[in-house]
Amino acid sequence: MTADSTEYTDAELTAYLEEGLAAEAMARIEERLRSDDGFRRRVTLLVNHRETGRHSAGDLWRGNRLSCPSRQELGSYLLGGLEEDLGQYIHFHLDTVGCRVCRANLDDLRSSSSDSPGTQSRRQKFFESSVGRIRTGQ
Ligand SMILES: [Zn+2]
Repeated sequence: MTADSTEYTDAELTAYLEEGLAAEAMARIEERLRSDDGFRRRVTLLVNHRETGRHSAGDLWRGNRLSCPSRQELGSYLLGGLEEDLGQYIHFHLDTVGCRVCRANLDDLRSSSSDSPGTQSRRQKFFESSVGRIRTGQ
């Protein structure tokens, strides 16, 4: 189901990592990263390889917040409710790219929803009992 089957060269992908491509080409590669597992692995290798070089692609990505998933997507990722490809992309984004912004977002989401199910059902009960009181009060 991959629309884009362009064979990118390492040079092109490196240019992508350094944001040296036209916006349109950047967007196409991002789209491909979200949907193509093999492609993602290849870019991961390239990133890992470059981490040892003078410039870290991860740093560039971190600096530019490239392809950050939305907060909603991060929330679904936490709950495991994403389609596999997108879940893996986010994993890639968090672990390979090491995006601090998204990690912070994720921590935030985790702590706000982590209150265990117990807390939630307590809240729910509280809500229901308040509603009940309002209704009986009328
Ligand atoms: Zn991010």
